[in-house]
Amino acid sequence: MMPPMPVSRAALEALPKIELHVHLEGTIAAETARGLATAHSLEPSALPFGEAGYPVRFDSFQHFIDTYLGVSALIRTPDDLGAIAAAFAKAQEAQNIIYTEVTFTALTHVRNGMEPKAMWQAVTDGFAETDVHIRLIVDAVRDMGPGHGTDTVALVETADADICALGLTGIEGSTPEREFRMLSDAAQELGLGLTIHAGETKGPEIVRAALDDLGAERIGHGVGSMPDDELVGRLVRDFVPVEVCPTSNVVLGVFPTLEDHPFPQMWERGMNVTVNSDDPPFFSTTLTDELDNASRLAGLEVADIAELQRRAAHAAFCSQDVRNNLLAAIGAWEQEHSELP
Ligand SMILES: [Zn+2]
Repeated sequence: MMPPMPVSRAALEALPKIELHVHLEGTIAAETARGLATAHSLEPSALPFGEAGYPVRFDSFQHFIDTYLGVSALIRTPDDLGAIAAAFAKAQEAQNIIYTEVTFTALTHVRNGMEPKAMWQAVTDGFAETDVHIRLIVDAVRDMGPGHGTDTVALVETADADICALGLTGIEGSTPEREFRMLSDAAQELGLGLTIHAGETKGPEIVRAALDDLGAERIGHGVGSMPDDELVGRLVRDFVPVEVCPTSNVVLGVFPTLEDHPFPQMWERGMNVTVNSDDPPFFSTTLTDELDNASRLAGLEVADIAELQRRAAHAAFCSQDVRNNLLAAIGAWEQEHSELP
């Protein structure tokens, strides 16, 4: 039998990576937010955080949302957005991320006065500054009510951008999932994927609603499913992709420490998990860090990390050609790193 092959940091850095759960507005560093405030001559009080930057822990999910929306509101022009999109693409490239789907709350910016055509162009041009394959998931926000879903769908229908899916985010329990059926209908009609944040801060009932009422193809977070054996069994049986973001859950107070995070149980139960960073600078993390965390917590070896990435490739909302290329890159990495020195 082959001895276990622990995964070194260098091997994780070299891994051609896929990230499926990361928010564009959540990739704005505190320093960048400060720069935007200065550029638009805003008072320091316009910044939703203090001198020290983002807090190490958020007091509540609401506190995080308020900070996130405050930072999003600093984006005033298509140029701001283009710079943020370019910085995101470069940060993904620096981690050797070769394919990524990024969630973008487009309606925020349109409601703040940005012209849709210029908005889509800015994002597209920013992404084009690297060779990373980046596709958009456009999300509606639960706590903004069903109207946010309707307006998001209308915006997507006329968008000139590489959109691969629709998403639903925001405060769980604020609006019932079934009131966002326009998202499922539009996803079907437009040939888009559908991923629903569910079971992040609330329990199994939200995950069930995401599956049953909306036909979610992927679940964002899903950690709240764990107390419900029947639901976990269903997620395993149907091999529903679950986008897990361990550090995010700790910084937002869902679990006290990473050691309390259920990632190891999710993996051992055979859930179709992927690992993601969510809002990297808000949580002082990166995808490489999250893979490192997952590896350490669940004792993953090279073959397991390759399997995690293969699951991400299969869960990606992309063509079979793109998927085959991703799988080939992962396979090459696995082969190279499985050999004994
Ligand atoms: Zn998220």
